[in-house]
Amino acid sequence: MNLNKFKIFKQVPKLLFGKGSIDRLEELLPPINDKRDYYTFVIDKVLIKEKFISNFNKEFQQIIWFDASLNEPKTKQIDAICSKISQNPIAIIGIGGGSTLDVAKSISIMLNNPGTCDDYQGWDLVKNSPIYKIGIPSISGSGAEASRTAVLTSEVKKQGINSDHSMFDAIILDSNLTITVPVEQHFFTAMDCFIHCVESIEGTMINEISKGFADKALDLCLEVFTEEFDADKLMVASYFGGVSIVNSEVGICHALSYGLSMEYNLRHGLANCIVFNMLSNYYPKHVEIFKELLKKFKIVLPENVCANINEETLNRMVETTYRMEKPLINALGDNFKDILTPDKIKALYKLM
Ligand code: NAD
Ligand code: ZN
Repeated sequence: MNLNKFKIFKQVPKLLFGKGSIDRLEELLPPINDKRDYYTFVIDKVLIKEKFISNFNKEFQQIIWFDASLNEPKTKQIDAICSKISQNPIAIIGIGGGSTLDVAKSISIMLNNPGTCDDYQGWDLVKNSPIYKIGIPSISGSGAEASRTAVLTSEVKKQGINSDHSMFDAIILDSNLTITVPVEQHFFTAMDCFIHCVESIEGTMINEISKGFADKALDLCLEVFTEEFDADKLMVASYFGGVSIVNSEVGICHALSYGLSMEYNLRHGLANCIVFNMLSNYYPKHVEIFKELLKKFKIVLPENVCANINEETLNRMVETTYRMEKPLINALGDNFKDILTPDKIKALYKLM
């Protein structure tokens, strides 16, 4: 029997959904049994004045404010945060966008594993079980709430800690948290979800179950952007899109966008949009829909980002792209390097 044929379907085991559901966070937390027990909250700094934060019981908690507006999370930042924690919390609660959720995931892993964060970027390198963690997205689209990766940038690469240990133990999907997201950011992060679904559906690693999630997420994304906006629907789309890629893979757009983010410090959602806009040869139907959405929402993507690019940078970007081996196999098959050659990658970047 070919055991590789069957994949264990992975999902976060506990989920609270609905506007206001963050008020029931306590029900998902392990109880405080000892006076030394405490919880660590990792919260996007942009939420500092939000009322739901002040509702938390202050007695047994530490708060780490992560400023996601500055940059996507770096391995060094995680190491620095962990070095300041002398006694481990009994739970970690991440509240924010994909960046902040990935910080919470990474801390929960690194507090229980030796070495530095760079050691764990890659596939299935984490040995010890992490600290119990809860994810609460404040912007919809990344799917980080559902995924088995924590994406980080080191001095040399952007790559996730891809591991079952990166998955949350519980999540809360409360779309009230997303009300304050600025319009453009909202669009870019939502398009991350749209692209997750397209890459998942168009890839070879999908099965009927993950396809069900991706199809529904794509429908919801389109409903939200072409009919009437509904924050709950977009939050569900983000989650379903995430579930779909956990159980399949992303594709060419994500592989190329990592090169762009790494070299030009472009945020994930925006980088994905810049790349996807150039991929009509690979995802024709959906790139067309995407272009219509850009027009509808009057989103002007930066042009000539790579205008003055030199050969050395281009070579590093090819390397970063090829590091995304699984997405490229998903999209193009085992011989992806023969199809998406270094020259083709360079030509695509030069168009951006
Ligand atoms: P983000 O966390 O990078 O945040 C983008 C901006 O939105 C920041 O300035 C942030 O402060 C702001 N923001 C967040 N919530 C807000 C709110 N409620 N009101 C106002 N502003 C708010 O956004 P993202 O697009 O969700 O995440 C992108 C990051 O997630 C990248 O680092 C990417 O690599 C990572 N990612 C991870 C996964 C995964 O599966 N782990 C998947 C996709 C992307
Ligand atoms: Zn993505």
